[in-house]
Amino acid sequence: MTTSSILNTNDKVDNSNNDVKILKLINCRLIIKEELLSDQVLFIDVTNGKILDGQKIFFQERNWSRLNTMQILDCNNLIVSPGYIDIQINGGFGVDFTADVDIVEGLKIVSKELLKRGCTSFCPTIVSSDSKIYENILPKIRQRKGSVKDGAEILGVHCEGPFIAPEKKGAHQEKVLKSATNGIKDFQEVYGMKNLNNIKIITLAPEVEGVNDTISELVKRNIVVSIGHTSSSVKDSERAIENGATLVTHLFNAMQAFHHRDPGPVGLLGSFNIKVTLSNKIKPYYGLICDGIHSHPNSVKIAYSSHPKGAIIVTDAMAAAGLSDGIYKLGEMEAKVSEDYVFINGTETLAGSKITMDDSVKNFRKFTGCSIVEAINSATINPAKALGVQNKKGILSEGNDADIIFLDDDLNVKKVFVAGIEFRLNK
Ligand SMILES: [Zn+2]
Repeated sequence: MTTSSILNTNDKVDNSNNDVKILKLINCRLIIKEELLSDQVLFIDVTNGKILDGQKIFFQERNWSRLNTMQILDCNNLIVSPGYIDIQINGGFGVDFTADVDIVEGLKIVSKELLKRGCTSFCPTIVSSDSKIYENILPKIRQRKGSVKDGAEILGVHCEGPFIAPEKKGAHQEKVLKSATNGIKDFQEVYGMKNLNNIKIITLAPEVEGVNDTISELVKRNIVVSIGHTSSSVKDSERAIENGATLVTHLFNAMQAFHHRDPGPVGLLGSFNIKVTLSNKIKPYYGLICDGIHSHPNSVKIAYSSHPKGAIIVTDAMAAAGLSDGIYKLGEMEAKVSEDYVFINGTETLAGSKITMDDSVKNFRKFTGCSIVEAINSATINPAKALGVQNKKGILSEGNDADIIFLDDDLNVKKVFVAGIEFRLNK
């Protein structure tokens, strides 16, 4: 392959072969300073799967032999976006991360399927469980790089519970819920001391005994603390932010409804004078499930209007995502899926969604009336910043992972690259 080989977007890029060292994307639409600009180029170092700085290639490395091994891909003015990041996903495609006996095999299936929907990295999410289940599952979900072979990158586990409020348990089992009277020791005991290293996010209820005072200990261990499944007042929620919490889990769901005298965690979107000690974030990020069922489109719009930079699109998908109606596993329970609704079987309690990231981003744009760039940001740079991984994910800047998706103007996923190599979509 040489610089003369120009491919069209309809062609498959064979840059897995050793001859190609650089991939140059031409005629792209890229997000530059919050705007979508046409006629842009993007360089990918295929040897290490990172984004290259185009200027450096030509000015600093003029005689670089790798320039002779460059392949050019014409993007035909498609949007070239960072891959989507899903920080809350319980499973999909028949797999439930909490209940499946073979979690390793399950992760392989989901990781590959996510790529087809434009999601190139994710946080497998485990619902409230007893310590034996954490002991079994958590060591098996290690952070791992994304690749065409393995699928989307695993950024770390999202443990939703068990330190949550029984009255806001949603689809979680009440018998496994915990308080933290012994502080961090209770967290270490439930999840397992070593397993804390595999955890990226913990969703907890600040008002549960001992929990709010433990948040700073979790943050010191590089865990992102998210407020959720909670009856917390706005005062307790603000104290959780002071203690280092930086995220709210599936805003509106499994928390008190917005009330003007005490707006609860939803009121954090209006906070502006919290005394923050452990982070520099005054307002938290917040996850939004955009299936049109978990939150009314107007609610999504209100949240987004009040704090656009904090919006994070999450799927909260369960085993049925990508599949048809039926009965599916959900932790130790069963969920019934019917016409996009997912209920705990025999009840009217919502139990996750069956939506995928590509459809979520489309819905988010529709619900909020935001620009394409703003919709993409809510699935890329915002979650990357919430997890503190913006120096490798969520933005196509030099040195970041070349996890890239091509989108048309309706936000349909047309092409996917993970770590600089094209993942072949069989659509
Ligand atoms: Zn939940």
